[in-house]
Amino acid sequence: MTVDIDEGKKAEGQPSFVAQLQATLNVIPAHTWYASPSGGLTFVNKRTADYLGLPKDHPLRFGIDVGAQWDAHLPFVHPDDREETQENWSTRLRTGEGGEGSFRVRNAQGGYRWFLSRAEPLRSSDGTILQWVGVNLDIDELKCAEKGLRESEAKIRRLVDANIIGIVIWDFDGRIIEANDAFLRMVDYDREDLVAGRIRWTELTPAEWRARDEHAVTELRSSGTFQPFEKEYFRKDGSRVPVLIGLATFEAGGNQGVAFVLDLTERKCAEQALRESEHKLRQIIDTIPAHVVRYRPDGVADFMNQTFSEFVGPGVGFDNLRSVVHPEDYPKRSRDWDTHVAAAEPYDIEMRLRRADGVYRWHRSRRVPLRDANGAIVNWYGAGHDIDDQKRAEEAYREALLELAHANRVATMGQLTASITHEVRQPITAAVTYALAARRWLSAEPPNFHEVDDALSLIVKEGNRAGEVVGRIRALIKKAPARKDAVDINEAILEVIALTRTEAANNSVSVRTQLAEDLPRVQGDRVQLQQVLLNLIINAIEAMRDVGEKERELLISTRHEPDGVSVEVRDSGPGFAPAALERVFEAFYTTKPGGLGLGLSICRSIIEAHDGRLWASPNVPRGAIFGFTAPAHPGEAS
Ligand code: ADP
Repeated sequence: MTVDIDEGKKAEGQPSFVAQLQATLNVIPAHTWYASPSGGLTFVNKRTADYLGLPKDHPLRFGIDVGAQWDAHLPFVHPDDREETQENWSTRLRTGEGGEGSFRVRNAQGGYRWFLSRAEPLRSSDGTILQWVGVNLDIDELKCAEKGLRESEAKIRRLVDANIIGIVIWDFDGRIIEANDAFLRMVDYDREDLVAGRIRWTELTPAEWRARDEHAVTELRSSGTFQPFEKEYFRKDGSRVPVLIGLATFEAGGNQGVAFVLDLTERKCAEQALRESEHKLRQIIDTIPAHVVRYRPDGVADFMNQTFSEFVGPGVGFDNLRSVVHPEDYPKRSRDWDTHVAAAEPYDIEMRLRRADGVYRWHRSRRVPLRDANGAIVNWYGAGHDIDDQKRAEEAYREALLELAHANRVATMGQLTASITHEVRQPITAAVTYALAARRWLSAEPPNFHEVDDALSLIVKEGNRAGEVVGRIRALIKKAPARKDAVDINEAILEVIALTRTEAANNSVSVRTQLAEDLPRVQGDRVQLQQVLLNLIINAIEAMRDVGEKERELLISTRHEPDGVSVEVRDSGPGFAPAALERVFEAFYTTKPGGLGLGLSICRSIIEAHDGRLWASPNVPRGAIFGFTAPAHPGEAS
């Protein structure tokens, strides 16, 4: 730029050249300035002065040359940009040529903005530099946008190069213009194939996915993006790879776009494996011969296996599952279940459930809670099975046992005929004797009515005794259902001893008792307990037939135990070999020529049904001890 400076000077009354320059620079909508030929900043326009926050009387606002150094303006520039700016400015001054550079300038608040600064020398007609004039354009927003773009470009580049997912640039004509290694690996093509244009997305897509692709194309053309979806691609060798693909065009209405592609092979395999194992598990759960039900933490069922849903039949679901419980069992069972759910305790129940055909069947079900790591209940699991047949078998077994016990009792009583006859005959004989005596007192002169009265009382007493004996024998022979009474065990023992007295005497066996006083009454069936005693006493008497007559001793004792009583029957017979100790309780084990071998096995089942224990042990110095326990009746104070 050259000006004729003399012209300005000549025009009298006209504003000076400098004043005109300043006025012009002030109205330009940019930051402007000028500097002396040696580079010292002399003037900045109002816009710049305000930006820099210069005081109102600052010489730079008026263009008063205070002889500033060529680089005196550098403190306004960002420290990081100073070196470059200084170099650039010194080049301008050395060469005298205009040029530009960009740097950040500090504003009044201490913040910085980017400026593109262009400086030109203003020369006189002889070429001498009169001034340097400059314009600074605020390019801060542009710079930021550029920076953002560069950053996001770098991020995208990293994503592409990292090859974590497949990235493809495509066009609507079916071309794949660019693809990263991850994508090429997925479809098993080389970069050469890509460069030669041999990979086309239209051809990578199997026929059944084409319709989907067409839909995507329509959507992309109208909205520019398409929601990720699953599809398959052909690999180079014709095999298929399952992928997840997301699509977007670069610009609205453009022909090109980008796609990200994820290989789903592993996920598909895992899904398949999971499906298979679920299927297998389901098959197992459905075919195990048990009814499996799952309950929510609140105790309501939310799953049942096929076995069980077939049992309850159609029309029964989780909402009305409780309706299959037998009305008699329902109130208690459901109350118990609710209590167990509240207490989070395993639950064991027996109840009747209605089968699809309307028949109620006994079931046994056990339910246990499954907890998470914190102990909270996730679900309850119940396994149940039909025990109806078993229940019936148990019932039949109990019946049979009762029959057998009865038969055994009758048979034992048969063995005791002599003893029983004696027991009955004794009071009758006595009564007859008293009757004869009464008759004598009656026929005396005068008749002695006092003695007659005494005799008659004794006859009544003996008659009652005979009646009692017969009553006890009847009770033992009668077949009656088992009872749960409070039984005085000592009294029951004494009665059995009475029945076997003659048998013992005939076999020269001396019988002794050691019966504890203040025993609690035991809970059970008197007749059955007496049957056990009868068996043990007769066995003992029979065993002692093999030893010398003087040594045959039978001792029956009772003892108070913590939770009931124990009874022991000791003999001085030959005892048994250790090996026979447990065998004696087996059914049909006998060492007697006419024995059945059922007595002790029946005794054991009777005692076990009484919640007691029956055992055998050797006696000292010889013989056998048979003992049993029986729990006290709940009503008895211990
Ligand atoms: P059975 O009396 O018909 O043989 P049990 O079941 O009552 O049937 O007894 C089985 C076997 O146990 C007897 O045959 C005998 O060998 C043995 N046994 C039972 N009681 C005694 C005893 N007090 N001393 C020795 N052996 C005994």
